[in-house]
Amino acid sequence: MPFQQGWKYCSKCQVLCWSEMGRVCQLDGQSHNSSGSGTYSVLYNDGTAPAQPTWLFCTRCGELIYGGTADLGTCPASGAHTPLTGDGAYYYQLFQNPQAGWKFCHYCRALFFPQGANMGPCPGNPTGGSHDDSQSGLYFVCL
Ligand SMILES: [Zn+2]
Ligand SMILES: [Zn+2]
Ligand SMILES: [Zn+2]
Repeated sequence: MPFQQGWKYCSKCQVLCWSEMGRVCQLDGQSHNSSGSGTYSVLYNDGTAPAQPTWLFCTRCGELIYGGTADLGTCPASGAHTPLTGDGAYYYQLFQNPQAGWKFCHYCRALFFPQGANMGPCPGNPTGGSHDDSQSGLYFVCL
């Protein structure tokens, strides 16, 4: 699956936008502000992925917009969003209904979902018998 890395969160308008372009912010018409943002990756051009297709890049405001309907919505740069399409354009895809909070247990190597403080039984853990998330990142799985 191809992912494009480099998307940022704008702290002014709270929108996902492309990092390398100032473009036009929803808040004040000036540049988006991505300082302090993490760097996000978005799936693109994968015809077989179980993800919602038809998200597009607006060349004027630099935002990721939904292009699956005729009405493309209002662009902060004026008028409607103007997505990049055709050869060379990226067609972005977003996963829907993800459930975050899954963890990796390094004793039994399984992906498990904690219920509060209850980590669930793990016969592989020599000290206590519960799954252990101390070496885990935060995973999500789509419903
Ligand atoms: Zn913004
Ligand atoms: Zn736009
Ligand atoms: Zn375990």
